[in-house]
Amino acid sequence: MSSAAASAAGAGPDLAADRLWSVDEHVSDILGQIRPLDPIELQLLDAQGCVLVEDVTVPAALPPFDNSSMDGYAVRVADVEGAGPKFPAVLEVVGEAAAGSGELPAVGPGQAVRIMTGAPLPPGAEAVVPVEWTDGGLGGGPATTMAASATATATATATGATGEVRIHRPVSAREHVRARGSDVAAGELALAAGTVLGPAHIGLLAAIGRPSVTVRPRPRVVVVSTGAELVPPGEALGPGLIHDSNSFMLTACARDAGALAYRVGAVGDDAAELRATLEDQLVRADVLVTSGGVSVGAYDVVKEALSGLSGAEGSVDFRRLAMQPGKPQGFGRLGRDRVPLFALPGNPVSAYVSFELFVRPALRALMGLEPVDRPTVRAVCADAIASSPKGRRQFLRGSHDPGTGEVRTVGGAGSHLVKALADANALIVVPEDTTAVPAGTEVDVVLLG
Ligand code: AMP
Ligand code: MG
Repeated sequence: MSSAAASAAGAGPDLAADRLWSVDEHVSDILGQIRPLDPIELQLLDAQGCVLVEDVTVPAALPPFDNSSMDGYAVRVADVEGAGPKFPAVLEVVGEAAAGSGELPAVGPGQAVRIMTGAPLPPGAEAVVPVEWTDGGLGGGPATTMAASATATATATATGATGEVRIHRPVSAREHVRARGSDVAAGELALAAGTVLGPAHIGLLAAIGRPSVTVRPRPRVVVVSTGAELVPPGEALGPGLIHDSNSFMLTACARDAGALAYRVGAVGDDAAELRATLEDQLVRADVLVTSGGVSVGAYDVVKEALSGLSGAEGSVDFRRLAMQPGKPQGFGRLGRDRVPLFALPGNPVSAYVSFELFVRPALRALMGLEPVDRPTVRAVCADAIASSPKGRRQFLRGSHDPGTGEVRTVGGAGSHLVKALADANALIVVPEDTTAVPAGTEVDVVLLG
């Protein structure tokens, strides 16, 4: 379908529909229509990578009780004062405190309780003497028997839980004791709204007893590729057929951006079939991504299926962008819920670059993540770029070396070069008004991570 016909069918007699859009205009049109998803409550592990939308306060002190940081003996400080190798303090071992012990023997004058790391400090005790500073309760034997600590009290006598212990170093009050609340006190802020939940945050939430948190969810992204020539990987190619790589690549891109992505098998160049497929997918999609069928060839199936929708069905604009690759783009909203739809061009490199520039920022905006863009750095381009299309922002595949700050081109400008794409870690940006880049010139480089 020609762009003139498209404007007649869709946008009406609007000459502006035919104009070239800049990359920045297209991005702001998209982001202007994207609102963060409504928060939901998720189990901790499902919330990983999501933005917390509540301030989480600590319900109870952490640690919740004074406990030992060492395997050793809980003692009263006065009882071990002045103890040394020659004149050890000899204390009566009156019991054992293991991690998880609920009932604890009290430590009276001249007494000690054998204690394990994480066990509550028994009443009466003021400090913990590490087992290495003692005879291990074996009358001078090696201090290595604590490993058997968690065994039943029936074996306690044999392993030194009662009897005597010789201590040959003094301790000061609270030594080797982790105080209740020393990590974080009750009522303190554990995590502020806006925190992007990483593994340590998840750990903290679990430690303070939170099973779930309120976050912005991951968008559900449905990826549909189009093209009569597409065969899934694993199936033999007939004449003129190629493997569908875009749907896999774009699904991976969406996951990489933090989304929950679903790949739908490729749809042939049949507008009715594509419409039906997209309508079916609407129920599980926060975002729809299609590939192919948006240029000016004879089988522009996405354009054909989604141009000139009735208002109730949504609307998708197809436009030409001042960029290379990725000139033809479609963006709009589909269905009653106005699900954002990105119609990306079919050439694999075009699809990839389009995803990076347009879809990824939108997904991050839906999740409430900032910044929405990949980091851009300045780098010296070690290769000359002989020619770049005038009036179009070009994104070339590059290999960026953060050590030297240099970037090299990888492969050429061809938008079918998937091997070069796989070898790249950056996009070299050649501005609209630049038609050649001499080697040694500084350029903007988008780091793909
Ligand atoms: P189209 O935009 O549909 O005209 O496709 C442009 C080019 O990209 C053609 O060479 C297609 O064969 C190729 N292409 C389209 N979709 C895919 C896909 N899913 N995987 C790999 N190549 C594709
Ligand atoms: Mg096609």
